Amino acid sequence: GEPIINFDRCIGCKKCVNVCPASALVMEFTDEEKKILEQLAAAGTTHEPEEDPEEARIKKLLAEYRGVWVFVEQTEGEAAKVSWELLGKGKELADALKTELCAVVLGHEVEHLCKQAFGYGAEKVYLLDAPVLRHYRTKSYERCFCALAEKYRPEVILMGATGQGRDLAGVVATRLKTGLTADCTGLGIDDKRNLMQTRPAFGGNIMATIMCDKYRPQMSTVRPHVMAMPEFDPMANGEIVREAVNVAENEIPVKVLEILKDGSGSKVDISGAEFIVSGGRGLMGPENFPMLQELADVLGGVVGASRSAVDAGWMPPDRQVGQTGKTVRPKIYIACGISGAIQHLVGMQDSDVIIAINRDPEAPIFEVATYGIVGDLFKIVPAFTRKLKEMKG
Ligand code: FAD
Repeated sequence: GEPIINFDRCIGCKKCVNVCPASALVMEFTDEEKKILEQLAAAGTTHEPEEDPEEARIKKLLAEYRGVWVFVEQTEGEAAKVSWELLGKGKELADALKTELCAVVLGHEVEHLCKQAFGYGAEKVYLLDAPVLRHYRTKSYERCFCALAEKYRPEVILMGATGQGRDLAGVVATRLKTGLTADCTGLGIDDKRNLMQTRPAFGGNIMATIMCDKYRPQMSTVRPHVMAMPEFDPMANGEIVREAVNVAENEIPVKVLEILKDGSGSKVDISGAEFIVSGGRGLMGPENFPMLQELADVLGGVVGASRSAVDAGWMPPDRQVGQTGKTVRPKIYIACGISGAIQHLVGMQDSDVIIAINRDPEAPIFEVATYGIVGDLFKIVPAFTRKLKEMKG
């Protein structure tokens, strides 16, 4: 029905327009009313719309935080690539917020990482360099990171959704009493400076955009290969802010005695591969995966799998692509006998080129495919391999 307006009390503050959840209200004034409002404004007698104290508190709090921070994860002085990918995305966010992009480097003898961070887009690096930080340990890193965040108050903190990043992000968010969105697949900024954090929800059936609009900093983790790698500028430079380390070795109960590297060599890292040939339930059994391996070998790539193929024991779990597997971003992704469930798509849809081979023309994989081939994979894959071998001579 018609809204009831009490004209004796309405002062034209437009508060009702702002709070209407359906954005269904507009306030328009007649020329005569406009004139009166102008006269009142000129006389300085207009009623200022009074601000809700809670809203005012939040507004003040949010205004105290500025800057986009990326945690540069390192192991024995070598940075995880995801940190550079996050600087690439962080630059976009910092530009949208008209604020600075900073990197946070914690470790021992890690100053060389500052130079790399500048090359990937950071304008400033907060550096904490001390023996106590040589190896990642939750407590020492949490203490140092939180002290830094409390002192400089960043608006946004990004970390890789890796073992280190997931661990650190959780404790930092808890200590700073703020929100954290894990495994984001998209990040953007809205018109109120809020970070729009998109990630799959409800088993991957919907994409949810999550905001942390009443607390700061806003924290997200992002898996490797979800964001594009920015270009490296070897000439780039910036400011290094050195901070004192506020933690002593005897305060940390955990000691790193030895680092054992997985020397088996048999593990394949599909997340870094440029060419991936993946197989799903359509492969019918483990005996058919060598056919995909042959195609992958010609391309210089690796074989991946859907969860169905992994659950069936046809491929090891480290080959799984998707929400509960790895996120990949190869130059070419060839999906063979994979239907294209949303949980699979979220792990590979950002590949540069997607080629789908499926006998069902209605398979959802064709919705994301650059090239779709409807037919029997047992005929198409060998023909593909043969042709490529011929071309290579
Ligand atoms: P199917 O859906 O059975 O598809 C097989 C396809 O092969 C069909 O489209 C068929 O037309 C085609 N085919 C059959 N024979 C041939 C042939 N001769 N030639 C050509 N085409 C043929 N899945 C993942 O992959 N990764 C994940 O990380 C993941 N995480 C999940 C997390 C949760 C919480 C849940 C609930 C599910 C998850 N899944 C994941 C499972 C996902 O929902 C699907 O069940 C799975 O991806 C299906 O695998 P598929 O495409 O190999 O099998």
